Amino acid sequence: MSYFNNNKKFKPYIQKPKDISSILADEMTIVSGDFYGIQKFIFDRLSTKNASKVLRAKSAFVQIFTEYLAKYICHKLQIDENRILTRNAGIFEIAVPFVNVDIESIQKDVDEYFIKNFYGLSGVVLTKVECKKEDFKDPIKYKKLRERIINSIQNKKFKKFNLNKDTQYVLNYDSGIDNQNLCKVCNIRKSKKEGENCDICDNFIKLGKKLSYEHQEELISSKEVGIEFNGFETDINLDKKIKSYVLFKQYTPVTFEELAENSCIDEDSGTKALAILKADIDNMGKFLEKSSVTSSFEAFDAFSKSIDNFFSLYIPKLMSQKYKNTYTIFAGGDDLFLLGAWNEILELAREIEKDFKEFVAGDAKTLTISFGITLAKPSTPISYLANYTEELLEEAKDIDNGKEVKNPKDAIALFREVVKWDDYKETYSNLENLFKDFDKNVTTATLYSLLKFCDMSKNVKNDIKNTIWRSKLNYLFNRNIDTKYHNILGKLSDSIEKHPEATKMFLSEFIYKRRQA
Ligand SMILES: [Zn+2]
Repeated sequence: MSYFNNNKKFKPYIQKPKDISSILADEMTIVSGDFYGIQKFIFDRLSTKNASKVLRAKSAFVQIFTEYLAKYICHKLQIDENRILTRNAGIFEIAVPFVNVDIESIQKDVDEYFIKNFYGLSGVVLTKVECKKEDFKDPIKYKKLRERIINSIQNKKFKKFNLNKDTQYVLNYDSGIDNQNLCKVCNIRKSKKEGENCDICDNFIKLGKKLSYEHQEELISSKEVGIEFNGFETDINLDKKIKSYVLFKQYTPVTFEELAENSCIDEDSGTKALAILKADIDNMGKFLEKSSVTSSFEAFDAFSKSIDNFFSLYIPKLMSQKYKNTYTIFAGGDDLFLLGAWNEILELAREIEKDFKEFVAGDAKTLTISFGITLAKPSTPISYLANYTEELLEEAKDIDNGKEVKNPKDAIALFREVVKWDDYKETYSNLENLFKDFDKNVTTATLYSLLKFCDMSKNVKNDIKNTIWRSKLNYLFNRNIDTKYHNILGKLSDSIEKHPEATKMFLSEFIYKRRQA
């Protein structure tokens, strides 16, 4: 069963399953790790001024830490690292060839590390599920095993979150920190000296520079990024997934001001702003539960790694080639968090949506991605933007209002509207054509009138008086617009009637592209 389009474009991202024939044992334990609170870990209390220097590195740290921990566990249990089944996007699974594995002592090491360095706002939960060789041989048994793994992680995460509320409370009494010695990057830890950063933030800044070295892959010692448990040190390969894509200038990530300044550079005018994009696959849990993907280790392994490749390799490659004024905050697993010059982010979103639908095949054809996108000035606090964009993504996913529909979710929230991708794409391509020549001859006041008509059309149901938008549109054309453009009136009017929200999205983008900064 193939879940992906094996064409030239996507073939490099489709992964074969790991060969586990030699590592299966009669009695086994699957040890899983899951980095929780990633968004908190990356954004919490981060000052906007320094954000671009450390955001990417903090996200890379999540991957580096996950890899380190998987290796540390192999070292502690004295098993070969080949037993690590997967390690993507903050998650790992290890097939341990015996039972009665003590993960509690390792969990304690992890918890202490996060409390000491990151005040326990985030961390990794470790769980174990004992199983037998047959569980890997029988489709029904393997599906059950996957469910047990997922449940064990969910349960432990749930407990951790509750526990952390109390820990945080206690840690607020941490002494000896005042305005003078507070690190200006994280706003949590004590700096080394007044006016300097803390050690951990300095490590992130150094790591950020390393991620910029384009000359292929290289190793970094875990100690260099401040990770060391009981003297265990290992090298981590800074591969393409960890490096991802960020626009650099002299080995330093460009500031968010610069990214905003670089918007609309191909046009004569246009608003200078950032866009923040958050996206993930719709109903992934349900899909895994119901599809044949979880009927064998091989199918699941190939599926989840290929999906991860799309997010962590294919998209950053697209960005590096076509959308250079962008910055990956996070890209992996089945989700995405990007920012950049607003016009490039909007185009990138449309390309990702289109490519993902081309990438998936067979059973996976039903998978879709929803998006939340915010436009903002680069001075807006980044943690606020992260939360706000997250809310937009939730709004996009709520588009069906709990109703059963043929293609659930599959939506985009942008410019204060939420629409289905199909409607957005249809409207966008129709209007793009109509507006090609019309562009130079339309005044901004006219465009704002069109936006108003969209709002009226949206609200016809609430107030019948709003139907007047149609005659107002005719009047506007007769009064202000050259007769040679009157041929577009019919189609424009249809668009405002049929898809007022999507038409608004198109018009807003159009206005922002014309407007002076
Ligand atoms: Zn700091």
